[in-house]
Amino acid sequence: MLQHLLHLLYPNLCLNCNQSLVQTERYLCLGCQITLPETNDHLIKENSVEKTMWGRIPFERAFSFLYFNQKGVTQRLLHELKYRGNEDLAHYLGELYALRIKQTAQNQKIDAIVAIPLHPSKLKKRGYNQSFAFAEGIAKGLNIENLSGAVSRIKATDTQTKKSRSERWKNVSSIFCVTNSEILNQKHILLVDDVITTGATIESCGQEIIKTVNCTLSIASIAFAA
Ligand SMILES: [Zn+2]
Repeated sequence: MLQHLLHLLYPNLCLNCNQSLVQTERYLCLGCQITLPETNDHLIKENSVEKTMWGRIPFERAFSFLYFNQKGVTQRLLHELKYRGNEDLAHYLGELYALRIKQTAQNQKIDAIVAIPLHPSKLKKRGYNQSFAFAEGIAKGLNIENLSGAVSRIKATDTQTKKSRSERWKNVSSIFCVTNSEILNQKHILLVDDVITTGATIESCGQEIIKTVNCTLSIASIAFAA
């Protein structure tokens, strides 16, 4: 609460350590930015996200930007995105992550990006889709198209956090629908979510896309919480 008030009064403070930011810094001071708990998944073959998704949907690569750490900087950032509607921060994190993704030749073959959609009722309530804003940042950084409009969410779902693995899967199966398969055809698509935990949401959406579109999938998220 005190932290929120502080940032409302002084928006140019680091979200993590509350120190004043210099002009070139955004949201995080340099010190906090270099100590971000980055997974470096994009450089690691058979990383934890890939292992989580193995055998569930066919994909080329899977990677998350940050490890989720309770009470740590990732949680602080996600809180800022989810409860304080900081769309620009999501966009910024996407741009930051694009710089990492670009480092490998294989990832440079990604043609387009699709964010896991929110149900319209939830979008209205929340004001924006943080996965979409993160995807926008990546798309800008990689200079590729954000084709998120090609997929929609047709069922609203309850929150996943208190559910078991099988309950989570039941909760998200057949809730997505590809509304424009043509623009996704023959493309290598990076499917983007905010947090990957069991991977059930990514699996469900990815299956729907693969069912209707002839394409290659890769997977990315802001955070990985195993
Ligand atoms: Zn800091």
